[in-house]
Amino acid sequence: MTEEKERISRRSAIKGVGAIGAGVALGSIVGSKPTEAKTLDTMAKPKDIASDIARRVAETPLVDSHEHLIEEKDRLEKRARCDDWALLMSHYLDSDLLTAGMPPKDHRRLFSANVDPVEKWKLLAPWWPAVKNTGYGQAVAIAIRELYGVDDLSEKTAAKVQQKYEELRKPGFYRKVLSDVARIHSCQVNCLSRPFMESQLPDLLLQDISFLGMHMGPDIGSFAPPAGIEVKDLSNWHSVIDWWFDKYSNLAVAVKSQAAYSRDLNYEDVPAEKAAPVFKRQINGEPVSEADRKLLQDHLFWHCIRKATEHNLPVKLHTGYYAGQNYMPLGRLANNPASVSNLLRHAPDTTFVLMHICYPYYEDLISLAKHYTNAHIDMCWAWIINPAASVQFLKHYLVTAPANKILTFGGDYIPVEPVVGHAEIARRGIARALIELVEEGWLSPSDAIELIEPIMCGNGKRIFRLDEKIARCKKSAWLEG
Ligand SMILES: [Zn+2]
Repeated sequence: MTEEKERISRRSAIKGVGAIGAGVALGSIVGSKPTEAKTLDTMAKPKDIASDIARRVAETPLVDSHEHLIEEKDRLEKRARCDDWALLMSHYLDSDLLTAGMPPKDHRRLFSANVDPVEKWKLLAPWWPAVKNTGYGQAVAIAIRELYGVDDLSEKTAAKVQQKYEELRKPGFYRKVLSDVARIHSCQVNCLSRPFMESQLPDLLLQDISFLGMHMGPDIGSFAPPAGIEVKDLSNWHSVIDWWFDKYSNLAVAVKSQAAYSRDLNYEDVPAEKAAPVFKRQINGEPVSEADRKLLQDHLFWHCIRKATEHNLPVKLHTGYYAGQNYMPLGRLANNPASVSNLLRHAPDTTFVLMHICYPYYEDLISLAKHYTNAHIDMCWAWIINPAASVQFLKHYLVTAPANKILTFGGDYIPVEPVVGHAEIARRGIARALIELVEEGWLSPSDAIELIEPIMCGNGKRIFRLDEKIARCKKSAWLEG
């Protein structure tokens, strides 16, 4: 550990404890099991229990079960949207800026690669007070503080933030940001530019197989050429899908689909005989009705689910809130938990990972994790959508559903830097949830402490078989060339 790193991590740990410890000092642990008093000498000192929980949460590595990080070399080759401090706001704070009312013209300039980075502060300034307190805003502000040592983004500090941005963005910065500062065990990347990314950092950036284009579209242009299969009918397309599973299942941690952005999750198990003529009409460019399009998507979804299950890969599904702005049909989202309950019942041998706590319908999702053996819940993205609701979710989850099926962190970012802010908010929230459960008498101090490792790290390692995947990825063929 360098002095710089040590300084940063010590500061985060102390900050975490301070923020939480202060709030809990007045709290009591009335209602805790009386036997605990005999086993824990911390019983008499609630503040010590809060500090102890916060310290342990600060020290425990996080398994990061969901990111969209581009490869470090692509960042170094300036393939991101822009290459200055505004990049930290390009995902997801850009949406809060638009819904706050920032004119699209200024918004484009803020994220342009051709505007002087220091001048960009003037574009942001009128809107920063409106967005700096949202989870998206706080994650960016924390990242700027932890990575650049700047406590307050302003006209005076914009030049320093830019200078520090450039100093950090050097070869090796992904490990520095993710491992050293954010204390992340490993990330699981859902690459947005191809179905599976052969990462140059294979032990840090583990990968999902994106099966979105296998069942939606389908995206023949992206999937068929690498497989070397000409697609003339449905059975050819099945062969393409099978090729991707055969090639990458040993290395991938899971499969992922965000089809919930464009349809309900009410997938019927349609047999191939019914889907084949629709597929044929579609690739011949003939008209296909909405109902037939759904029928084909449904069939292909179940084909992929069977493949994933055969290859022992968990199925990650987007549920709930939509990224972006001005298009979310809330009624469709409200239906996600009910639709997912049918999937869970139909495929009892499949491990489903339900992402983003289906915000804002998180109570419904807790009921699924309680009722269905194969339902797992992933808090990825949730802490920055609504940090306070995420604390409530975690409290409710832990006293309702089995603790071995909850995953508490996924940054969900394209740029790497704000992951630091998101991880800090998550740690604060995890500690807060556990401390409040102790204060309110729902958990004993020792039970709260016992939950920290599994919910932050152990569950993710077990559910995604991380030790085995990391060992294999380190030896992957693409690193040899
Ligand atoms: Zn995502």
